Amino acid sequence: MDKKIGLFWLRDDFRMIKNDGLAEATINHDQVIVFYLYKQEIYKYQEAQKWWLSKSLINFKEKLNKFNINLEILETNSFKNFFDKLTKKNDFKMYWNKVYEPDFLKFDKYLSNIMQSKNISYKICKGNALNEIDEIKKNDGSPFKVFTPFWKSAEKNFLDKIPPKQKKIKKTKSKITYFKSCIEPEKILPQKKWFKNFEKIWLPGEESALKELQNFIENRISNYSEKRNFPNIIGTSKLSPFIKFGQIHVETIWDECKNKTKSIGTTKFLTEIGWREFNHSLINHFPYMLKNNYSKKFDKFPWKKNSKFLSAWKKGLTGYPIVDAGMRELYSTGWMHNRVRMIVGSFLVKHLLIDWKEGEKFFRNCLLDYSPASNVSGWQWVAGCGADAAPYFRIFNPILQGEKFDKEGEYVKKWLPELKNLSSKYIHKPWEFNDEKFKLGRDYPYPIVKHEEARLKALDAFKKI
Ligand code: FAD
Repeated sequence: MDKKIGLFWLRDDFRMIKNDGLAEATINHDQVIVFYLYKQEIYKYQEAQKWWLSKSLINFKEKLNKFNINLEILETNSFKNFFDKLTKKNDFKMYWNKVYEPDFLKFDKYLSNIMQSKNISYKICKGNALNEIDEIKKNDGSPFKVFTPFWKSAEKNFLDKIPPKQKKIKKTKSKITYFKSCIEPEKILPQKKWFKNFEKIWLPGEESALKELQNFIENRISNYSEKRNFPNIIGTSKLSPFIKFGQIHVETIWDECKNKTKSIGTTKFLTEIGWREFNHSLINHFPYMLKNNYSKKFDKFPWKKNSKFLSAWKKGLTGYPIVDAGMRELYSTGWMHNRVRMIVGSFLVKHLLIDWKEGEKFFRNCLLDYSPASNVSGWQWVAGCGADAAPYFRIFNPILQGEKFDKEGEYVKKWLPELKNLSSKYIHKPWEFNDEKFKLGRDYPYPIVKHEEARLKALDAFKKI
C-alpha cells in the first residue's frame, strides 16, 4: 500500500462503475481525496449545466462518504495556477481519467511534464469512450472524415480488445480532509431560478442513469429505430446528460445492451453512441472546428446579423409551431429531441441566415447535455459546413417536418398551449386557420419569414460560396 495520499481529480466521471482512476486510487492508498475544480469561466455560458453539476456533486459526495472519501470542491481561475501550487507538495499520488477534448488532453500533457519534473507520481486512465482517439485511424494514418467507415473501424477495434478486468472502488481506511477553502456544491447553482422546472423532470446521478438505461432496454430499445424520430413520444433513451457527466460509462451501456437485447433497435442505438465517438475524433483531429467552420469555404458565407429574428428564435416565437415548440421544450426542460434540434437548427441557419455559432452558443447555455464535441458537430452538420454533414441545399421545410414527425400536433400542443384548439389540419400552418377565438398576431405570431422566399434566399446565399 502506498503511504502517500491518493488524490483523484474528478472531471466528467461522476460514477462508481468503470471509473478506473478513482478505483486505482482506492486500491493503492489508505486515504483518498476526490477533488473537483470549479472554473467559472468554463461554465460562463453553460447556465443549465450549472444545475446538473451542482446536483451531481451533492449526489456523488454522498456516495463517496460511504467509502470514507471526502469530495472537496475548489474554485479556481486557472488550472495551471492551481497545480503549480499543489505540486509544491509531494505527499500525494494523483489519478485522473481522460476527457476527450483538445484543451483537456493538452492540459494532461502539461501536467504530466510538471509532475515528472518534480518526481510526483500520477496515473492517467481511460475516459468515457469506447476507444482512445489515436486508436481509430485510416490505413494511411489519417483521421476519418466520414462516419460510416469510422464506425466500422471503431466498432471492430472495440470488439477486438480484450476487456480489461473491472477495477472496483474499495472503502478506504480513514476519511481525511486535504484542501483549504472548499466551496459547497450549492454555490454553483445559477442565480436565476428558471431551473426549478428541471427538478420535476431530472434526477442527476449514477443510480438514475442505470435505472433509465434498464427502463430503456426493457421498454423502448427494440422499437428505437422506428420511434426515435417522433418528438411526441419518448422513443429515445434520454441518457445524454448522464453520459455527458460520466454518470454512466459508454462501455456499461454497450455491455448492458449487448447482453440483454438483440434487435435492429439495439444496433441503431449503439450507432448513435458511435456518432458521439466520431464527434470526439473530429474535434481532436480538427480542433479549429470548435470555433470555426470545418469546411473553410463557409468562412465566406454571407450570414445575416438580425437580433430581432435571433430573439424570436430563442423565445420560440417564429410563427412556425414545430420550431417554437422545440425552443420552448429546450428552455423548460434543458433538453430537446434530436429531430427537433435538426429542425430548429436548420431554421436558424437557412431560413434566417444566421450564423450557426449563434445557435451553438444558445444551445450551450440551455442544454443539460451540452458537450463541445456533439454540439459543434451537430450544428455544423445542420449548417452543412461540418464533416459528413447534411448538404446546405437540403433545406428542411418546417411545415412538412411537423406534419411528418408530429402528425396530430401532440408535441406542438404540449409546448404551445395557445394552439391547443387547432386541428391537425392547421396545427403546423396556423396562418391558414380562421376562428374568432384564435387570432394570428394576438394569440400566436405571424411567421417571421415566408418558407418559400426564405428557401430561395438561402439557396442564393449558398451560391455565393
Ligand atoms: P439517444 O437517441 O437515446 O442516443 C443515445 C446517446 O447517443 C445519446 O445520449 C448521445 O450521447 C449519443 N447520440 C445520439 N445522437 C447523437 C448525435 N446525433 N450526435 C452525437 N451523439 C449522439 N448531443 C449531446 O450529447 N450534446 C450536445 O451538446 C448536442 N448538441 C446537438 C446540437 C445539434 C444542433 C444537434 C442536431 C444534435 C446535438 N446533439 C447533442 C445530438 C443529439 O441530439 C443528442 O445526443 C440526443 O438528442 C440526446 O438524446 P438521447 O439521450 O435520448 O439520445
